[in-house]
Parts: sequence; structure tokens; C-alpha cells
Amino acid sequence: MIPGCVDLHTHLASTPTFAPLDDFEHGTRAALAGGVTTVVSMVYQEDGSLRRGIERAIRDAKRSLADFAFHVVVTDPSEAARAEIPALVREGHAGLKVFMVTPRFVERRDEYRLLLSAAAEAGAVVAIHAEDHAIVADRTAALHASGRTGVEHFPESRPVEAEVKAVAEALALAAATKAAIYLVHLSSRAALDVVREGRRRARVFGETRPLYLYLTRAQFDRADAALWVGQPPLREADDVAAVWTALADGTLDTVGTDHIPHTRAAKLAPGLTFDRIPPGVSNLETLLPMLYSEGVRKGRLTLPRLVDVVATGPARIAGMFPRKGAIAVGSDADLVVFDPEARRAVRAAELHSACDYDPYEGWDVTGWPEIVIARGEIVFERGELRAEAGRGKLVTRAALS
Ligand SMILES: [Zn+2]
Repeated sequence: MIPGCVDLHTHLASTPTFAPLDDFEHGTRAALAGGVTTVVSMVYQEDGSLRRGIERAIRDAKRSLADFAFHVVVTDPSEAARAEIPALVREGHAGLKVFMVTPRFVERRDEYRLLLSAAAEAGAVVAIHAEDHAIVADRTAALHASGRTGVEHFPESRPVEAEVKAVAEALALAAATKAAIYLVHLSSRAALDVVREGRRRARVFGETRPLYLYLTRAQFDRADAALWVGQPPLREADDVAAVWTALADGTLDTVGTDHIPHTRAAKLAPGLTFDRIPPGVSNLETLLPMLYSEGVRKGRLTLPRLVDVVATGPARIAGMFPRKGAIAVGSDADLVVFDPEARRAVRAAELHSACDYDPYEGWDVTGWPEIVIARGEIVFERGELRAEAGRGKLVTRAALS
């Protein structure tokens, strides 16, 4: 038995112009069936207001089967937005997110620095998507100019150096502002080396995502490569080995799914250039089984370390520990009775996501949840979901001290 998993990185909330294929209801069906009993979703600042983004997400999450919390993506780091942070943190919304890869980040760098200072003061963790805007924009423009717009060029449009440069800048910002940062979906050996070194002067947490543990750039030789498009792209086998090592040695603190699937038709739509393919894949239901099967069974991770990276670590970073991420008196009874010998191939048709394909279709996986308990209720048992939409509750996040 292990604690219910906490996924610090999902995209289940809507925006005024976007409704995800897996919303809170569908996404958390997949989550519970996979042993993930708490999800943290990105939500977007709306009409300049962080609070309005959270209010929308709370409305969306009324259909959630799992417990939930949020990171607010700050698209306009105005003085008014920064002023909202202390009250939001006091109410339990102690998470922000910044995309360094947007032109906005470059244009408003000084305001983003003030945002990180405000987060540090209030005790909010800042999740950061670290890819350098200029490098990605230049590579993308050069590829377009030479007519190389097919999906096979996606990896070269977002090279490792873009990740390394942004990670270094994020660490410098964190050191200067004293903000606690959470670097999402780290993918390369070179970026992990920078994180390892930067830990000495900044408060930094690291996340990788399942794609970087199991697949390489070789996927982009396939005609249907678009199915695996995510940002950053899949890397080389040496990077995969480095990500496993970083997960085992503590350079990485968590595996977050970045769950945001799109249908096959949306990913493979004819005429999409490499930079227009909707990024993201499904991962909530396979997070724990794949990590057990490929990590623990193959000797790359110990079982206690697996529990750290999918439950205890994320719960601590999110300010939910020990309510979540622990089996203890006083903690929520979120538990996974895990069958380490259960063997099943991954088949999208048998999974709970609304998506019609899975990035690991056909993978032979040993070790699946048998029974999942959330706040003391059996919510999944031997292949069957037994939870109702709407049973999930908001988990208030404590400020980081
Ligand atoms: Zn994401």
C-alpha cells in the first residue's frame, strides 16, 4: 500500500477560449484509476485578475472526482496582479506559474522579477516553464524560411540549449528574489546539471514528465510523430538516462504528468506545421504503473523513492503535506493498494481519459493499482471506478516558509 499520488502538473481547467478534452471530470476519472488522488491544475489569469482565473477553475472543478488545487499562470504581471498574491496565498492558493518561453516574458522581465519577489514574500511557489524565447523563435523562423515545416523538425526547433539558458536564468532570478521555484518538465542532461549546481544558491524544485523517461527523439522518425509533440521535445537516449539518474539522486523532486491530451485527429490534422501541433499528451492513468514497471522493476528507482517522487515530494512542494502524500494518523486516507504483479498492456480504449490514443499504446506494464481509496472511500476497485463526479474537494495549500 502506498499513499495516493499527487500530480502537481495538469491542465484540466478551461480558459475563456479553450476547453480541454480531459476536463476535471474526465481527467480525474483517469487520475483515480491510476492511483492519483490529488491533482493540481494550471489555471490562467483572466481579465488581468489572478482571482478570476481561480474562480473559473473552482467552477470547472465542481465535476472533479479527485481532490484538487491550482497554480495560476501569470500572463500579465501587473502591479494589480502582484497585489492579489498575499490574500490568495492566505486563502490556500499558494502557487503561481510563469512561461519563460513567451515574448511577454522577455518584454516584461522586470515585472516578472517583481512577481517572483512578491511570491517569495507571500510564500507562493512559482512553477516555471523554462525554455528561452529567443532561441525557440529564431530556430522556428529559420526552419520556416527554409521550408522545413514538418513534424520531424519539431525537436530541432526547441533545442537543449534553449532549456539550459532559461533554467540558468530562472535560477538566477530565484537566487536574487529568494523565490522558491518549481522547474517543470525538465528534459535534458545539460539542464539537470545546471539545476544540480544551482541548488546551492537558489530554492529550487525539479520536475520531469513521463515522456522524458520512456521515449527518445527517435519517435520523430515516425509518420505519426505529432502524437508525441510536447514542449520541450523528446531528447536523446543519453538525456533519458540522465533524467532517471536525477530522479534517483534527488536532483528531480517529482514526476508531474503535464496531462493535456488532444485527439489523434487534432494532433495529426493535415497541414499543421511543427509549431502549430497542439502540445501535450495523456498521462494521468499510467503515471504510477509505468514508473513502477520501468523504474522500480528495472532497478532504476527504489520503491521509497518512487513514493517520494509521486506522492510525498509533490505534497510537500504544494504545501499539502502531511494532509496529502503520507500514510499517517491525521492524514487524509488517500491510499493505493498496488498489485506489483498485475500485468497489462496499455490500451487507450481501456483507459479513462477522453483521448482516443495513448502515448504508450501497447506497452507491456507490470504493476497496477488494485484498489484506490480517497479520503476513506473506495473510489476504484479491480478495474471499476466507483466515484461520482463532484466528490473532489479543494485542498488549500499552505504557504512555504
Ligand atoms: Zn504544462
